[in-house]
Amino acid sequence: MTAPRLVVDLEAIEANARALVGRLAPKGIRVTAVTKAVLGSPEVAAAFLRGGVAGLGDSRVDNLVRLRDAGVAAPMTMIRTPMLSEARAVVRQADVSMNSEVAVLDALADAARSMGTTHGVIVMVELGDLREGVAVDDVVALARRVADRPGLSLVGIGTNLACVSGTEPDEGKMAELSRLADDIETATGQPLPVVSGGNSANLDWALAAPHVGRVNDLRLGESILLGTETLHRQPIAGLRTDAFTLWAEVIEVQTKPTQPWGTLAQAAFGTPATRHGTGTTRQAILALGRQDTDPDGLVAPTGTTVLGMSSDHLVIDLGDAPVAVGSEMAFGLGYSALVRAATSPFVTTVHRPPSETTAS
Ligand SMILES: *Cc1c(COP(=O)(O)O)cnc(C)c1O
Repeated sequence: MTAPRLVVDLEAIEANARALVGRLAPKGIRVTAVTKAVLGSPEVAAAFLRGGVAGLGDSRVDNLVRLRDAGVAAPMTMIRTPMLSEARAVVRQADVSMNSEVAVLDALADAARSMGTTHGVIVMVELGDLREGVAVDDVVALARRVADRPGLSLVGIGTNLACVSGTEPDEGKMAELSRLADDIETATGQPLPVVSGGNSANLDWALAAPHVGRVNDLRLGESILLGTETLHRQPIAGLRTDAFTLWAEVIEVQTKPTQPWGTLAQAAFGTPATRHGTGTTRQAILALGRQDTDPDGLVAPTGTTVLGMSSDHLVIDLGDAPVAVGSEMAFGLGYSALVRAATSPFVTTVHRPPSETTAS
C-alpha cells in the first residue's frame, strides 16, 4: 500500500477501555466513550464496548449515523450542543444530548413530539473553562424547564473543563457540580440519574479523590485511545500508548547543508523552526503533510527528528537510520496528529486485527 496509513491496534484500545472502566467502577463512575477523534469508527466503538464502557458519545451527527448504520448497539449521547438546524437529526440519532440553549431545547422537544418519542437531556453548566454551559445561577431553572417540557426528559447535569482554557477539574469544581445536582433534584422533585463530570482531564481527580460525590459518568476519548491523561499529557500507568501508528513513504533521501541559505522570510506555515548545527544533514522527505496530519504531536522514530512540514512534505533528519527511497517510516501520534490523520481523506485507516464492525 502506498498511501499514508493510520494503523489502529484494536486490542490496545480494548485493553485501555477495560483498564479505565475497571479503575473507575469502584468509584461509582461509568464511562461514556467518545468516538469523535476517530470519526465514529464502528471498529473502535466495538473495541470500547468489549472493554466494558456503558455508552458512546460523539460531537457530530454524521459520526452517530455511521455508528448506527454499522449496527453498533449502545446508548448514544450527542456531546456537543446541537445546532438548531440539526435538532431532528439529533433526536433521531442520539438517545441523549448535552444542552445549554433554550432555543435548541425547544426545537428538540418539538422534534421529539412530532416523532412520537422523548429525547433525553443533560444540562451543561459553565464552571470556568469558558466553553459550553449556562451560569451556575441559571442551571436549576434550565433543568426545571427541561423537566416540565413534553418531549424532553431530564437525565442529568454535566460540565466540561480543560478544553479551551485549560481549567482543571478539581475537587472544588466537582463538589459544586454535585451540589447543583442535589439542587436540581430538590427543585424538580425527580431523581437526576446522570452527573457527567467531564472528559479525560478529570481522570487525575477521579482516580485520586477519596470521594467523588455524585459524579457517576465521565466522557473519555483521548485517554482510552492514546493512554495519556490530558492535563499534562503524561502516560497513564498500565495503559498502552501505542494504539495508533501513522506510516508514510520516503520519497527523497539526500545529504544537504544543515542550514538553509539566502534571505530567509516566512515559510509555508509561518515562521519555520530554527535548524541547529552546521555541516551537513542526511535528510529524508516523506509523502506526508499538514493535509494528512499535524506536526505537533508527531513522534518520529528513535534517532530521527522532525525538521519541518508543509502541506504535503515532511522533512526528517535521519541521523544514521537506514532509510531508502521507497521504504516506509512509522510515527507515533499525539491527539492533534491523530485527529488530523483520522480526518484526512488522504490517509487510509487500517484496523488490526481486522474485526467485526457490528457490536454485540
Ligand atoms: C471531546 C469531548 C470529550 C472527550 O474529551 P477527551 O479529552 O478526548 O476525553 C468529552 N466531552 C465533551 C463535551 C467533548 O467535547
